[in-house]
Amino acid sequence: HTKSAGRNGYHFFESSMNINVHNQLQLIQDLRHALENKEFVLHYQPKYDASNGQVVGMEALLRWQHPARGLLAPGEFIAVAERTGLILPIGDWVLDEACRQMRIWFDTGYTEWKVAVNLSAIQFSNGQLVEHVSATLKKYALPAHCLILEVTESTAMQDVESSMTILTELAVLGIDISIDDFGTGYSSLLYLKRLPACELKIDRGFINNLAKNTDDESIVSAIVALGHSLNLRIVAEGVETEKQQDMLKSLGCDTLQGYLLGRPVAPAQLMLNLDEAPDAPARPVSSNV
Ligand code: C2E
Ligand code: MG
Ligand code: MG
Ligand code: MG
Repeated sequence: HTKSAGRNGYHFFESSMNINVHNQLQLIQDLRHALENKEFVLHYQPKYDASNGQVVGMEALLRWQHPARGLLAPGEFIAVAERTGLILPIGDWVLDEACRQMRIWFDTGYTEWKVAVNLSAIQFSNGQLVEHVSATLKKYALPAHCLILEVTESTAMQDVESSMTILTELAVLGIDISIDDFGTGYSSLLYLKRLPACELKIDRGFINNLAKNTDDESIVSAIVALGHSLNLRIVAEGVETEKQQDMLKSLGCDTLQGYLLGRPVAPAQLMLNLDEAPDAPARPVSSNV
């Protein structure tokens, strides 16, 4: 009796493994065609100046409109894209698309906005990055200060010397560097001081329980003090409640981002959401939309 249960258990295990392998292979197959089938889209989440509530820019977040599975978030496919190397052409597309959209906003009169693009470690260590970024800005005739590149703390600290070289080259172009998910990696303060970054984004994990956990309040306060002493702008991501927002403002965060203020959405929806906001930013004078 037990033996047969064990056997069933084994069969169950084996077939579920097969399903997983099958799913993975299917995902890789689908991902290979996603670019040519134009299945990727970018959603944009606004970033707000904490002191006056003005929109300062957008973060581009990748979505995959999968023909069978619907709209997929990066958590469902980025790891596979990285393992297969597909993240390189996908990342090129993201950069191009974000700059194309920024050009449209720029022409509409939103010349103060910056668009932030996330980079994966593989793009970051690919020798073409700086050249490619510079060519894409040129293609859309955008000034470099329109663009923020977000790299996670762990990516930036993986190979510190090479990060320093690449980030310096990007900074020389005039691009803003943002250190994403800050507080989850292991930054050496010495390197942090040398990194040519403009911005630290405090990881959502510390914002989550801010109103309940005094440790997190101390951590946020320490990150703000550290960042400001290095002349970095401090962004809080994942702001979901009024309470969190109030605390983050009084702790001295410069920029706020989160579902409370705006979810990531397609560009057309974003413009509608901004128009409907109670303290909607005035349309730029040159606006033709
Ligand atoms: P991230 O760069 O740290 O982006 C923040 C994530 O938190 C996004 O998830 C965003 O939708 C989500 N978020 C924003 N506000 C809130 C909030 O108030 N509450 C909660 N619970 N979540 C919030 P998303 O879009 O699923 O992206 C996840 C990660 O995937 C990103 O983390 C980034 O590391 C990566 N990613 C996104 N787009 C790209 C891309 O184009 N290229 C690469 N290489 N990675 C990307
Ligand atoms: Mg990010
Ligand atoms: Mg982040
Ligand atoms: Mg993150």
